[in-house]
Amino acid sequence: MVPTSQSNSVTKPFAIAADWIIPMQQAPQPHQDNIVLEKSALIVENDLIVDIVEQSLLQTRYPGIRLNQLGASLLLPGFVNAHCHAAMNLLRGVADDNCLDDWLNQHIWPLESIWVDNDFVYDGSQLAIAEMLLGGTSCFQDSYLMPDQVAKACQQSGIRANIGLMVVESSNQWAQNADECIDKGLKVFDQYKHNNRLSFSLAPHSINKISSEALQRLLTLSNELSLPIVMHLHETEQEVSQHQQQYQQSPLESLQKLGLVSPLFNAVHMTQISPKDLQLLKQNACHVIHCPQSNMKLASGICPVGDLLQQNINIAIGTDGAASNNSLDMLSEIKAATLLAKLSSGQSDQISAYQVLYAATMGGAKALGLDNSIGSLEQGKQADILALDMNHIETMPLYDPISQLVYSASRKQVQHLWVAGQALVKDGELTQINIQQLIAQAKQWQQQIKGSFQ
Ligand SMILES: [Zn+2]
Repeated sequence: MVPTSQSNSVTKPFAIAADWIIPMQQAPQPHQDNIVLEKSALIVENDLIVDIVEQSLLQTRYPGIRLNQLGASLLLPGFVNAHCHAAMNLLRGVADDNCLDDWLNQHIWPLESIWVDNDFVYDGSQLAIAEMLLGGTSCFQDSYLMPDQVAKACQQSGIRANIGLMVVESSNQWAQNADECIDKGLKVFDQYKHNNRLSFSLAPHSINKISSEALQRLLTLSNELSLPIVMHLHETEQEVSQHQQQYQQSPLESLQKLGLVSPLFNAVHMTQISPKDLQLLKQNACHVIHCPQSNMKLASGICPVGDLLQQNINIAIGTDGAASNNSLDMLSEIKAATLLAKLSSGQSDQISAYQVLYAATMGGAKALGLDNSIGSLEQGKQADILALDMNHIETMPLYDPISQLVYSASRKQVQHLWVAGQALVKDGELTQINIQQLIAQAKQWQQQIKGSFQ
C-alpha cells in the first residue's frame, strides 16, 4: 500500500457537479420536500465543502473553477459503517451457518487464538478498508485487538475511522487482561489523537467478557476524554434471559446502574428491547447500532427499529465483521435493514428509504460524535463525498433517486469517493491501494489459515 499524505496542503477549489445531490442534512420527517437537489454542484476547498450551488450559477460564482461534471450521477455523504471488525475479513466464510455461540466458541475464538497477531490485524484491516472504500464507505468504526495496527492501516489508506480500543478480561495476543487492554489502548490513542481522520472509542467486547471494575474504569475514561463506548449488547435472547435470571434485570439495566448508559453509549445489536429498556435508551439519548445482516445470518434476532424511531432514538447501521455478514457492503446493508423492518413489523412503511439512508450517514456520524464534521453534505463540513453512477441498467428508469439508491443500486455503481477532499476511489478504482497486492496477500493467509481448520 502506498502511504498517503494527509497534510492539509492547500489545493485549489474544485467543483463536483451532478444531476442529483442528497445532502442528508434534514432529519427524516413525515412529509419531506427538497431533500434532493437537482443540477447542483459542491464546491470543495482543501478538506472542506465550502459551498453548494446550482450548476447554472457555477461560472458566475466561481469563474474558471476546475469542474468534475459527472452528469447522471448522484452525490451523497460517504457511508458511515458504525460497527465493524475489519481484521476479520481474513476469516470471511470460515464458519458459516452457525448460531452466535457456536460461531464464536467453536470456530472464531479458537482460530483467532492461533492467528491473530500484528500482521493478521494489519493485513485484514487493509483488505476490509479496500472493500469498504469500493462500496462507498468513507468512515467506519472498528472494534478489535491490536488497535495500533488498525490505526496504521487506516492512516495509510486515507479512510476516516473511529478506532475502538477493544477491552476483554481474558488473556490474548494483545494484552493479559482488561487493565492492560486499556493501558495499551490509551497509548495508541495518544499516538494518533491529533490525526484529523482518526477518532477513538472504548470498546468493551460484551457484558459477559468484562468485569464491573473494568467497566467503571472505562466510564471514568469515557467522561474524561469524551470517548464513545461501543459495546455488543442484547445480541441474542439467550444473552438477555441468562443475565435476567442471574441479576433480575436486563444487561442494559445493569449498565445503567453502573452509569454507562449515556449519550456517549453505542449499544450494538439490541435485538431484544423491553419497554423499560426502550425508556432507558430514550431517556439517556443512547445510540443503537443496527447490524441486520449479521443478526439474520447468525439467527440472533431482530432489532425493533420501528419502536426506536418512534421514540426518536438515534439508529446507525453497521455491517459487523466479514466473518458474520459476509460482506462490508453498506448499500446491501441498508436495503436489508429496511426490508427486515417491514417484514418483521408487518408494516410496509416501517422505515422509509430516506430514514435508512439517514441512519447510514448522519445516524452513524451522531453515534460516533462526528456529526459536526461528517454525515451530511453541508457548507463547512468535511468533503467526504460519494458519487454513484446512476446511468446503469439496474437503476433505469429513474423516477426517484432515493428509491433507486436504497432499493436498486449496487456497489458496482460506486464511481468516486472523496475523504476530506482526497479522491480515494476514482472511476471505480482505488487510488491509494494496490488491489492486486492485497489479493495476493489474502491468498497467502487463506492457504495458512485453511490448514488450521481442515
Ligand atoms: Zn460485532
